Amino acid sequence: MDVPQFHPMSKIVGIDLGTTNSLVAIVDSGIPYVLADSEGQRLTPSVVYFQENGATPVVGRQANRVRVLKPRETVYSIKRFMGRRGNDVGTEETQVAYSVVAEGAGPVAIEIHGRRWTPEEISAEILKKLKADAEAALGETISRAVITVPAYFNDAQRNATIRAGELAGLKVERIVNEPTAAALAYGLDRLKENSKIAVYDLGGGTFDLSILELSQGTFQVLATNGNTRLGGDDVDRAIAEYLLGEIERAGGPTASLSHRTTDLDQLSLLARVREVSESVKIQLSTEPFVDVSLPFLTSTFSFSIRLTREKLEELARPIIERTRGHCLRSLSDAKLRADELDQVILVGGQTRMPLVRRMVSEWFGCVEFHEQRGDLRLGEEYHQAKGPQLNTGVHPDEAVALGAAIQAEILAGGFRHLLLLDVTPLSLGIETFGGLMNPILPRNTTIPVKAGEMFTTAVDNQRSMLIHVLQGERERAQDNWSLGRFEIEFEPAPKGVPRVGVQFEIDANGILHVLARDIKTGHQKIVTMKSAVDVADEEVQRMVEESVEHAFDDLRFRQWTEAKRTAIETLTATRKTMAEYDADLDADYRQQILDGLLGVEAVLEQENRATKTGDPAALKAATARLDEITQALAAHAMDQVMEAMLRKKGVLPASVGPTA
Ligand code: ADP
Ligand code: MG
Repeated sequence: MDVPQFHPMSKIVGIDLGTTNSLVAIVDSGIPYVLADSEGQRLTPSVVYFQENGATPVVGRQANRVRVLKPRETVYSIKRFMGRRGNDVGTEETQVAYSVVAEGAGPVAIEIHGRRWTPEEISAEILKKLKADAEAALGETISRAVITVPAYFNDAQRNATIRAGELAGLKVERIVNEPTAAALAYGLDRLKENSKIAVYDLGGGTFDLSILELSQGTFQVLATNGNTRLGGDDVDRAIAEYLLGEIERAGGPTASLSHRTTDLDQLSLLARVREVSESVKIQLSTEPFVDVSLPFLTSTFSFSIRLTREKLEELARPIIERTRGHCLRSLSDAKLRADELDQVILVGGQTRMPLVRRMVSEWFGCVEFHEQRGDLRLGEEYHQAKGPQLNTGVHPDEAVALGAAIQAEILAGGFRHLLLLDVTPLSLGIETFGGLMNPILPRNTTIPVKAGEMFTTAVDNQRSMLIHVLQGERERAQDNWSLGRFEIEFEPAPKGVPRVGVQFEIDANGILHVLARDIKTGHQKIVTMKSAVDVADEEVQRMVEESVEHAFDDLRFRQWTEAKRTAIETLTATRKTMAEYDADLDADYRQQILDGLLGVEAVLEQENRATKTGDPAALKAATARLDEITQALAAHAMDQVMEAMLRKKGVLPASVGPTA
């Protein structure tokens, strides 16, 4: 006989959906750990191989093995295409071995065997494998997950990640920023109030430096900076180029990574050299030297060489050096000096390389570094020493997944004291008069957050207002990314009378909801900015750099646009008043006003058509002059109005004369 059974709430797993490797982790009885697959492996390469016969795609290590043989059917680094549309993917980004369809405003697709796959469908294949591995390891069905994303991921990219989870049969309970997850894994929530932490994450193909602050048991991301085209792969490539050079010098076959080839011999040579390059690199993280041997590169040529850690460091140093600028920029965005940091944590497989630890330690002036030099011996001195502590306690390639699992446990009701706070990587705002960007949530605002402003019309009898939602740091609306647009209708009224409140709310998943409300009638619209098609994407870094690069021009455009609005208002008001009181003006004064008007118009005419910018100082001066000239006219108009009003109310006699 069936008896009702008690089903506890299903477990929530934490998933690090990485560019190079993905992992799934769980908290069991208070302890987080990464789950292994049936082969005992905890890292799943984020690689998907699509077979000819349409059978279930192969994911992970097996797919990675066929990557060289089946380059057009094997998809790697799909994370780079998540939530992106054709026209914001750069040509160098589509230089992958598989076929990327990146056209117009449509989402990016991958074409294999004549079928188009969206990036979220391909990510879903990776997630399906992680889900199946977790179910096998735990012996129960898994249907809920926390998934991590880079801190700079925009709404479209976060939404695509949520959809990938749904396609894999997972309810995504929360999207968490990778650095925040890493800090959780390190247990840094137990540091003292206001501790500041730098998270240095160097993976296979991406680098991020994020700065977090601990406040009331929650993490805030103060700043984030990085490079989406920099990582361990670059080190592998440098080793491979070096080895290829040595092979050629020794009289062996020649090949180069920078030339595309379809020649099978060349391909297999390149594949062998690349594979050996990564494995040598990994071995040299713990060994002082490695004897590389590549037997039978041709039927008559075998190659061997001894590679020392010193040689590897010589090849890798310039690559690691490139991360330094991003560290500095992140610090300056957070308005911090390195010695104000409490800890620096290392995340990403590539940080296992001792050189990375040394260089990072040196740049941040970490105490562990001084300690190694023997400067410090006593515990007390250690604590008094200036500079952050380099914390390397957690496996760097597992930290993010472990943190995701901890966040999952918090959501499931465990570890109640923790909460997560993240920041907006770029400013969010709306377009206003003259094509200006009006920020509502500045860059690096802690989320979840809600903020708003009131707007009005610039033209009489406007019936609606266009709410054009923008993301970016530029002063001109058109230079920012358009997240979407919608209209809010209201009753026609003279310009400046309608009041529309616009409110931006970012929820805990980093998704933006925009509310516009006509204050008079209470009519409102709420739009969630989730359409992947309408969301442009570029690197945050590029946006910030461009905003610095164009700061001068942008500022001039803003000043001009604002001066122009005042000038046009003044012109219109003056003409109107002049026409109304024309009879009261003597010829001399009329000419003065006309000169003033002409002065303003002359400056306006000098606007450069291409840049829509003129000389803001000259325009302000001309407008001020006109203002000054029309003082008397304005006073006269005011008197007339007052008089008419009082007369209407019967306060004054019908005609005014000297008091009797
Ligand atoms: P991602 O976050 O991009 O998915 P990971 O954090 O898994 O990537 O890092 C992958 C990179 O780390 C690869 O370039 C790999 O070669 C490198 N890596 C892994 N283990 C080591 C090691 N022991 N020493 C040096 N590099 C390593
Ligand atoms: Mg990673």
